[in-house]
Amino acid sequence: MKILKGDKVKILIGKDKGREGEVVKAMPKKDQVVVKGLNLYKKHIKPSQGRPGSIIEKERAITISKVAVICPSCKKTIRVAYLIDKSGEKSRICRKCKSVLNTPVSKK
Ligand SMILES: [Zn+2]
Repeated sequence: MKILKGDKVKILIGKDKGREGEVVKAMPKKDQVVVKGLNLYKKHIKPSQGRPGSIIEKERAITISKVAVICPSCKKTIRVAYLIDKSGEKSRICRKCKSVLNTPVSKK
């Protein structure tokens, strides 16, 4: 998956379209990410053991096709490309300005 925790992304579709936030959780198996403060839903907490019930807002995971990575260097929404150097190290680069995205790709 090309989007990792720590990336800045922009929402492309839905009620938060155009808003930007930081990825706080990446779920490669589901192709989903959780973006801090975006795509919120209201969760009702039932009252229990003397605590009153309440409503909290939580982030809902977003399918990665609905978000675009923002390049930290050129500040544009970009397509991420992979660059593999001579030692076999894989890094993610911005296709527009060719700068390496700071969040490392985990080795397998
Ligand atoms: Zn760039």
